[in-house]
Amino acid sequence: MTLTAGIIAVQGDVSEHETAIRRAANRHGVDPDVREIRTSGVVPDCDVLLMPGGESTTISRLLQTQGIDEEIETHVGAGNPLLATCAGLIVASRDPKDERVRSLDLLDVTIDRNAFGRQRDSFEAPLGITGLDGPFPAVFIRAPLIDAVGSGVSVLAEWDDTPVAVRDGPVVATSFHPELTSDMRVHDLALFDAERSE
Ligand code: GLN
Repeated sequence: MTLTAGIIAVQGDVSEHETAIRRAANRHGVDPDVREIRTSGVVPDCDVLLMPGGESTTISRLLQTQGIDEEIETHVGAGNPLLATCAGLIVASRDPKDERVRSLDLLDVTIDRNAFGRQRDSFEAPLGITGLDGPFPAVFIRAPLIDAVGSGVSVLAEWDDTPVAVRDGPVVATSFHPELTSDMRVHDLALFDAERSE
């Protein structure tokens, strides 16, 4: 099996996701072709996509000026997996409630951008995630708060009674950073789960 994985690399933490996707793929006996995406024309070659943390205002603006935004929408519209983390979650959301973020509306949630961050700048917490066997070490950094989820969205994990990992069809999004640990189970769940379309 061959797999082409694209990491949105216009801004944000890219190399950690590269390591995580390689390790998750290796677990399935796959040696992936990993591409860093800074311009249009690459997304159509990708089987799976990752949209990392960083600064959502910058990421979304660059996606639009480079014409990558519509390619991501087409990728997800065709049912192909996307893992969006932290700022990636904000960009993927239906409504980030901040006009500086040009969101892609791929995920039926609304966001309060730096809400967790205002309470506590960063922290790590053991998180129970649906589909994973045992707690996941979740690293939160100026994390966005998911304050409303649509009826088609499954909440995979909560922290403080707030959703912090969700799935909407082929999109899995987390307000924490699964790439910052050596545990690649969230990448596995998002990008290799054969049951994802259920
Ligand atoms: N708070 C940042 C934003 O709004 C996201 C933080 C992160 O990705 N670590 O873009």
